[in-house]
Amino acid sequence: MRDPYEVLGVPRDASEADIRAAFRKVAALHHPDKNPDDPRAHARFTEANAAHQILSDPQKRAAWDRFGAAAFQPGGAAAGGQVFVQVGLDGLFGDLLGALGIRTGERGDIRERVTVSFEQAASGTRKTLHYDCRELCSDCDGSGGARGAEVSTCSACSGRGRVRFQQGLLPFAVERPCSRCSGRGRVAASTCAGCRGAGLRKVRRSAEVEIPAGIESGASRIVEGAGHRVRPDRAPGNLEILIEVESHPFFTRVGDDVVCKVPLTFAQAALGSEIEVPTLDGRATLRVPPATQPGHVLRMRGKGIVHRVRGGRGDQLVEVGIEVPTELTERARELIEQLASELGEDVQPQQRTFLEKLKGWFG
Ligand SMILES: [Zn+2]
Ligand SMILES: [Zn+2]
Repeated sequence: MRDPYEVLGVPRDASEADIRAAFRKVAALHHPDKNPDDPRAHARFTEANAAHQILSDPQKRAAWDRFGAAAFQPGGAAAGGQVFVQVGLDGLFGDLLGALGIRTGERGDIRERVTVSFEQAASGTRKTLHYDCRELCSDCDGSGGARGAEVSTCSACSGRGRVRFQQGLLPFAVERPCSRCSGRGRVAASTCAGCRGAGLRKVRRSAEVEIPAGIESGASRIVEGAGHRVRPDRAPGNLEILIEVESHPFFTRVGDDVVCKVPLTFAQAALGSEIEVPTLDGRATLRVPPATQPGHVLRMRGKGIVHRVRGGRGDQLVEVGIEVPTELTERARELIEQLASELGEDVQPQQRTFLEKLKGWFG
């Protein structure tokens, strides 16, 4: 089923009037009467009709926005019938089924997080992830029944494996896997001792995760087939690994550049100096030119993060701060006063106060 927004060519935040106008246009274009020789026109017309029915009904539109195509069984909405929402084990009823120990997701996908340090993300690394996974019980091959036990059709779902019911919060009927037969449609007269009838067993697995240099927080990697295997007739789900990059005490990342703040003394900034700064490669020397101002950014080329596509590295950007001494000896104070007078600065409060100067400045 195609995205109804795409079918009508309207943005996600389109108003009701926009949707109506777009529908009229698309429907007129593909009306079967106007396209007697094009067999696809009929399909397009039907599609536009279905899209309009979803988007013009606030409840159906909300269902699409929330669940996507899964909310609409083929033909359901287009036929004007009951809108039909399928909720997987991970959905609204995850908790309900979690009580049965079957919180596995219908497709068996698993999501895990892997945390890497700022440096590891910058230079790349390998991580071993340990995770819990469910696989078919080897005693009963996932049937949940004892070996040789008589198997009959589940009476709760009439063998469909799914049950449909009206859920109080939702304006439409909801379907969920049958909890009596765990979606299998059949039940055995006596249950398997190895898995207590669940058909599944929890196993601890590990996966080796390649973290490429330059990866950003929020990136994910998918290991196909490394998820749960919840049904004998289906392939196992995937393992999705979300990568989180820890923050760093000195560095932040902007694109492929590493930004850090370095405090200089007044003398270092005024006279110029060579200072040591932390970089991803360890300590490095940075030349500070004379008359460097607070807030100036000094660039260290090639000290940033690896470009994931182009290769090469970004830069390190050093933002300069100026530290003002908080405690002065008598001599230091005198020297600064002398310096100020040499620079023509008026720092003697008894001569002229700041407020007076301010008055003069405003005129
Ligand atoms: Zn078993
Ligand atoms: Zn059932």
